[in-house]
Amino acid sequence: APMIAFRDVGKTYPKTTAPVMTGVDLEIERGELVALIGPSGCGKSTLLNLLAGLTDATTGTIDVAGSAGTEELRSAYVFQNPRLLPWRSVRHNVEFGLEQAGVPAAERRRRANEALELVHLGEHGEKYPHQLSGGMQQRAALARGLALEPDLLLLDEPFGALDALTRSYLQEELLSIVRRFGTTTLLVTHDIDEALLLADRIVVMSSRPARIKRVVTVPFGRE
Ligand code: ADP
Ligand code: ADP
Repeated sequence: APMIAFRDVGKTYPKTTAPVMTGVDLEIERGELVALIGPSGCGKSTLLNLLAGLTDATTGTIDVAGSAGTEELRSAYVFQNPRLLPWRSVRHNVEFGLEQAGVPAAERRRRANEALELVHLGEHGEKYPHQLSGGMQQRAALARGLALEPDLLLLDEPFGALDALTRSYLQEELLSIVRRFGTTTLLVTHDIDEALLLADRIVVMSSRPARIKRVVTVPFGRE
């Protein structure tokens, strides 16, 4: 069975008339990396928000399976706007979600260190978000997501604010994590090269109402 199944999903936001999406059918298998592309406003973020349970579908159903053998699903959402808590250090931002999840202190520290090292922020953990550049904040948000060691990773243009070199390094790291841990990943991107490089499948959404136009299977790039 697929890990994620959208069946005939429609979404109309409250106090609006035009639907953002209608008749969306989409299945995603465990361990797949699916890129979501389409013009601005076509509903890509809405689709991630629906999956994260931040907003409800107006019609249709969305099923998300738990991790193998359990009902529990660990998911992480890396928002387009990093949304770091301004009054907490970078390290505390990364550890905060783990604290909420009941991860013990020593393990929190270990995971935060690893994730911060991974995004090359190992030396900046004690800083506060306003002391970081936009790109560094974006990397911190990515570290916060990865430290959760999620089964489902939702990424909304996670590399947009990064310089080319850092972007390509983190794209490779993301691929390696998805391969090693079987993390099911949805990646919203405007960068077609990024989609081609990383994705097992590319979902192309059209603008209003955001039907899924085509699902392109990318048979290269990953073995
Ligand atoms: P994308 O991520 O593809 O740019 P979004 O999912 O952010 O698209 O938005 C899809 C459409 O839904 C846009 O027209 C946007 O203005 C509208 N929209 C998004 N969030 C809300 C909201 N909370 N209330 C009303 N309209 C919204
Ligand atoms: P290593 O430290 O062994 O070199 P990497 O640095 O390549 O490992 O990547 C491990 C990182 O992957 C961890 O720091 C963690 O942030 C992230 N990660 C994401 N999902 C998982 C998971 N399911 N299990 C372990 N680590 C995960």
